[in-house]
Amino acid sequence: MYPVGEFLRRRADFSPNLEALVSNETRITYREYNHRVNQVAHYLLSEGVEKGERIAVLCATDHPFCTLFYAIAKVGAILVPINYRLTSTEIDWMVESSKPRFLFYDEAFSNIVDSLSTDIEKKIKVSIGDELDPSFGQIFTFYPDTEPYIEIDMEETCVITFTSGTTGKPKGVCTTHANLYHATMASMLATQPAYGNRQLASAPLFHISGVCTISAAPLFASTLVFIPHIHPAYILDMVEKENINTLFAAPSLLHLMLPRLLKSGQDFPSLKEIYSGGSPVPASLIKQFDSLGYPLNVGYGATECTGGVTFWQSRDMDHIGSVGKLLVGEIKIIDPETNQELPPGQIGEIVVKGPFVFKGYWNDFEATRNVLKKGWFHTGDAGKIDEEGFLYIVDRYKDMIATSGEKVFPAEVEAVINQLDGVVEAAVIGVPDPVWSELARAYVVKAPESDLTETDVLEHCHSRLAKYKLTQVQFIDQLPKNGMGKVLKYVLRKQARQE
Ligand code: ATP
Repeated sequence: MYPVGEFLRRRADFSPNLEALVSNETRITYREYNHRVNQVAHYLLSEGVEKGERIAVLCATDHPFCTLFYAIAKVGAILVPINYRLTSTEIDWMVESSKPRFLFYDEAFSNIVDSLSTDIEKKIKVSIGDELDPSFGQIFTFYPDTEPYIEIDMEETCVITFTSGTTGKPKGVCTTHANLYHATMASMLATQPAYGNRQLASAPLFHISGVCTISAAPLFASTLVFIPHIHPAYILDMVEKENINTLFAAPSLLHLMLPRLLKSGQDFPSLKEIYSGGSPVPASLIKQFDSLGYPLNVGYGATECTGGVTFWQSRDMDHIGSVGKLLVGEIKIIDPETNQELPPGQIGEIVVKGPFVFKGYWNDFEATRNVLKKGWFHTGDAGKIDEEGFLYIVDRYKDMIATSGEKVFPAEVEAVINQLDGVVEAAVIGVPDPVWSELARAYVVKAPESDLTETDVLEHCHSRLAKYKLTQVQFIDQLPKNGMGKVLKYVLRKQARQE
């Protein structure tokens, strides 16, 4: 086992001329990448940055983020990636709780930095596209490009990534060097990328999946290609222009990519594999991509599990709808009330154990104790495992609706609503009711040309599901979502409570 900084050093040693990072006209080889990282690492050391100190990064999904990631890792400091899509109050809260000594930021986010109320010793503007130095950060070129060789303990925190905040306030998840090592090895085993694989960086880097993308690329011997905006139009153009072989896209992004793929009949022969996950990936979407010749693979994970728990490969079509098999470690389904393990096929809480499980939440012993019990991480997700070891996600326990003495998993109802022509997407939540305790309400986004009515949706569901599983339907222009395209149900619940 070795710390993440070694991933890059070794790749630079083995494949110095392999293209590592591509962004617009900037093309950086692994040798250059490692040199830049070392220069920034020496800069940090010259500023007296010590092991365990936090360094916040508020940068776009582009190559400077990658350089900062490795530089911070090599000196044993802790990266705190900041989600620039959050409000300044939310960002303030993250900064306040992680107390970074330095903040690196993109010029484009200057307004966010100006509005921060927390004191930070140094705020360093990162320039890309500068005429004099189209790469990144001229000042660092004055520092040595030699290895800093700082001894790193594998159990030390490398990154504090904040969870999506889908169910409430984001929590700072402490991911160690060992976690990243094992998660990367496990995904390498599952995906087996070819040497020189060209991967599109099509997911934000500030989530754990982005962090894993950066840490995995050197081990995979991949080239990371960046796009100006994570938008379906740019994605397919870039696939063509840069001969992209693999990309990750959240299910909502895949939905947006589909019309162009279907309409143009255009072929993207370089595109070998697509990866998705983070929220349910509908089987119909997988089938559509498959019929077009683009294998769509699904991962299931959580920030606390360094991104990955299970992986479903598109060649396992006879288990479509599953999120696949365990990557590494142990998994079981338990009764959330008794903690007893349940047999195959029964629905219960998914709990996992292994080298990918995080160390704990940053400065939150209570929250850590609630989810980490004797080394087992309690995911809060409901699921079942079949006899062959394939995991099926049912829903999140936090989203479960209790109505008229019955339990409703919204994901089941959403899947039925999504079958209706004219439905773009749907989210089902429980709204308080004095008689039934909660009632299941669907928020439905319909296609602009659709003449679907609320009664149509109710009738469609009532012919397929028990009536209590859906009592109200409301059309909505769009669902509230976070940066990963995940629906923020707590926002919908808050709105419903205020009515
Ligand atoms: P918070 O903990 O702040 O509420 P979050 O749970 O969304 O945020 P993440 O770590 O980003 O934090 O997301 C992990 C969750 O995403 C999982 O626990 C699961 O509910 C959901 N998820 C991830 N992958 C899949 C998938 N392939 N299918 C269904 N759900 C998934």
